[in-house]
Amino acid sequence: MSEITLGIIGGGQLGSMLAISAKKLNIKTVIYCDDPDAPAQNFCNKFISGTYNDKEKIIEFVNLVNYVTYEFENIPFETLSEINKLKPVLPKPSVNRLIQHRLAEKDFVNNLNIRTTRYASVENESEIEALEDLLPGILKTTTLGYDGKGQYPVNSIEEFNSLNIDFSKGYILEKLVKLKKEISIIITRFDIQKYEIYEPIENKHEDQILKFSKIPADIDEKIYNQSKDWAMSIAEELKYVGTLCVEFFIDRNDNLYVNEIAPRVHNSGHLTINAYNVSQFENHIRAVCGLEQLPLKKLSNATMVNLIGDQISEYRKLSKFKENEFFFDYLKKVIKEKRKMGHLTTLV
Ligand code: ADP
Ligand code: MG
Repeated sequence: MSEITLGIIGGGQLGSMLAISAKKLNIKTVIYCDDPDAPAQNFCNKFISGTYNDKEKIIEFVNLVNYVTYEFENIPFETLSEINKLKPVLPKPSVNRLIQHRLAEKDFVNNLNIRTTRYASVENESEIEALEDLLPGILKTTTLGYDGKGQYPVNSIEEFNSLNIDFSKGYILEKLVKLKKEISIIITRFDIQKYEIYEPIENKHEDQILKFSKIPADIDEKIYNQSKDWAMSIAEELKYVGTLCVEFFIDRNDNLYVNEIAPRVHNSGHLTINAYNVSQFENHIRAVCGLEQLPLKKLSNATMVNLIGDQISEYRKLSKFKENEFFFDYLKKVIKEKRKMGHLTTLV
C-alpha cells in the first residue's frame, strides 16, 4: 500500500475522476473545494470545504497531504504559491498564473512561433474603434472564463457599443475563426522530454460548451503531426508536470491555431478512461506523485457525449448499458441548464 496522500483543489467531475484514478493506484485523496455540495466528496478519502483564501482551512488541508494538484485553473495565485512553500504544487503555480490570463497565455504561445487567433487587449470603450479589422470577433474576459462564460460575439462597432461592457475587468478581443473543426491534444509530461501523448481528439461544441468528442479525429497527417508537436513544445517550455490539454481550431483553409491551454485534465479526454490503457487522470496522478511512466496503448476508437442539464435524467433511469457503453453520472445534486451532469463514452 502506498503511503502517498494527494491533495486536490476543486471538487467537480474532474476532481472526482482524479480521485477514482488515485484510488486505483492506492493513493489517498483529500479534496478541497469552496462548494460544500461538491460532487467529488463522493469519491475521495476526505473532503474539506472552504474558500480559496481561507488560510486556516487551507493549512489544515495541506497538513494532510504530500502533494497538491488542482482540477481547474481559476485558483488565486497567492493561494497556490503559499501552499507551494509547504508542499509541492504541480503543475507549478507560475504555470497556472500564466494560463489563467488569456492575454498572457496567447502572448506566450505566439512567442513560441505557434499560431493563435489574432487578438488585442481591450481596456476601455474607445479602443474598439481602432480594432475594426478584428471584427467579427469574440470579446472575452481575460480571466475567469469557462464554458463560454464571459464571452460576447461582436460583429460591428455598433453592436459592441450596445453591449454596455463593464470595463472594470480586462478584456481580449479575438478575431472569429471560420471553423472547420476543433481538436484537442492531451499530453502528460513527466520530466524533460518525457511524455505520454494521446492522439488528437475531435470536438464539437454547442453554445460554446463541449458536447461531443471522438477518436480518431478526421484530420490530415499534417495537422495530426503539427498539433502534437505544438502541444509538446508548449508542455516543454512550461516545464510542465502533469496532464495538460491544448485546444485547437482548424479553419476552412486547414490552418491550425491554438485556441487555449488548460493546465489540467480536460473534458475532451474523458474517453481516455475507456479507450486507453492509462487514462489522462491516471497519467496526471502518476506524473504529479512521481510514479512510473507507462507506455500509452490505445485500446479502441471511441466517442463521448456530454450529458448537459436535464439530458442526464433519461440516462439515470436506465439500469443497463451495452457492453461498449460507459455511463458516468457526476452525482451533482441540482440539475441546471448548461451544467455538465454526466457523460457517456462508447467504444467503437
Ligand atoms: P472557454 O474558456 O469557455 O472554453 P474558449 O475560448 O475555448 O472558452 O471558447 C469556447 C468555444 O467558443 C470554442 O471552443 C469555440 O467553439 C468558440 N470560440 C471561441 N473563440 C473563438 C474564435 N475566436 N473563433 C471561433 N470560435 C471561437
Ligand atoms: Mg475552451
